[in-house]
Amino acid sequence: LSMTLDIPFDNSYARLPDRFYSRQSPVPVRQPRLVILNEKLAHDLGLDPIALTSEAGVAMLAGNRVPEGAEPLAQAYAGHQFGGFVPQLGDGRAILLGEIVRPDGQRRDIQLKGAGRTPFSRMGDGRAWLGPVLREYIVSEAMHALGIPTTRALAVVTTGEEVFREAILPGAVLTRVAASHVRVGTFQFFAARRDTEALRTLADHAIARHYPDADGPLALLHRVIAAQAQLVAQWMGVGFIHGVMNTDNTTISGETIDYGPCAFMDGYHPDAVFSSIDVYGRYAYARQADMAAWNLAQFASALVPLINTDEETAITRATEAIGTFPVLFRDAWLAVFRPKLGLASAEDGDAELIHRLLDLMAAERADFTNTFRGLADGTAREAFRNRAAFDSWTADWRVRLGREPDPEALRIDRMRAANPAHIPRNHRVEQVISAAVTGDYAPLERFLQITSRPFDDQPENADYRRPPEPGEEVRQTFCG
Ligand code: AMP
Ligand code: MG
Ligand code: MG
Repeated sequence: LSMTLDIPFDNSYARLPDRFYSRQSPVPVRQPRLVILNEKLAHDLGLDPIALTSEAGVAMLAGNRVPEGAEPLAQAYAGHQFGGFVPQLGDGRAILLGEIVRPDGQRRDIQLKGAGRTPFSRMGDGRAWLGPVLREYIVSEAMHALGIPTTRALAVVTTGEEVFREAILPGAVLTRVAASHVRVGTFQFFAARRDTEALRTLADHAIARHYPDADGPLALLHRVIAAQAQLVAQWMGVGFIHGVMNTDNTTISGETIDYGPCAFMDGYHPDAVFSSIDVYGRYAYARQADMAAWNLAQFASALVPLINTDEETAITRATEAIGTFPVLFRDAWLAVFRPKLGLASAEDGDAELIHRLLDLMAAERADFTNTFRGLADGTAREAFRNRAAFDSWTADWRVRLGREPDPEALRIDRMRAANPAHIPRNHRVEQVISAAVTGDYAPLERFLQITSRPFDDQPENADYRRPPEPGEEVRQTFCG
């Protein structure tokens, strides 16, 4: 096996004009130590896991060694943060090393997050601490295992340096892999500067990378709207709350990005919010589709100068595109939730049937994951105190199931494939992070194994399906 890091970089972003980024190498760290490597992902990328664990490999993953062919840079972007526009954000602590083309032909960004200060750092230190880095690793890989589009996590390296937050904490670097890091905020950066030439170049880049059959900026807009409608519907289906759906965290690829203050709900409530900074509940669970539509409206505005007609018509076309979101989302949401109830056919009353169940769950804060999984396993009733209300819903559900063409066994298989048994519950995420901070990575390794097989019962891991006890509950998550 080759011990050299022979990485076939092909850096299309670095070939874009200078004003798209700032060339910037990662800032070396004191004492890099590899604490997790995603060997399966390395393999899928065509990288040699053994070379990545070598001294040179770890030095690369820490940002201490820029490998041959890499062209490190910090990307420029803008964004609406909680509704307020910031004309310049940019990679303040992330460095894009470059892109590799996987053996299957798909292009992937290789980015180091927590790699030191850049011209976009503002008051930040350019660093990350181990807690949020592990949270991103755990949750992004769990999302992937759940079949939901997401950036991936290739490796975590500790730096041997201290990071100063609310306490003195161990520093870490995450290697993030993404279809690209182009976001709505990247378009907004150039739109705000009225740099139409750069906007056009960026749109061409995004089309070539993500939607090669899209014919121009209006088609790009429609494709991104469809991808985001699908994505948010899938979040809803697993009780995921992103927590920081700013336009700089809205990808053009349709991948979930930025696992700062995210969480999976235990007890269901539509208004659930975990992020410590989301004080008004802007990004609460049930608001996520509306917020995605809002973000896409900002994308549409940015693209208007590129839509090849007079301005008034361009605005009309962009507005029509945004107008398709509610129906696309509703269809995607039904396509996610129908199989959760075992429904393969579609009837008009299905949305109401699903909402009635969610309302019952909300009234008691029934556990989201266990209630849905319990529908397949016949244990959902146990999650409810108001058995009469649940029984009445169940009676109507059974009548509806009676009109399904497929045999019961097939239906139960379908439900088990749509309702995970294992999600990364917040209190578990906190427990494994606490252990890792003391140098004990065994709980993390076990947890990653469990969450990599979300649809398997794993009776030996039954305790990981248990909602938190009152004393274990995690009510807030942080950006890190
Ligand atoms: P986020 O809320 O994670 O999407 O980040 C918003 C902006 O803050 C981005 O421009 C980040 O690069 C920047 N940022 C976040 N944390 C840091 C940090 N520790 N140092 C420098 N910039 C940061
Ligand atoms: Mg971000
Ligand atoms: Mg973040």
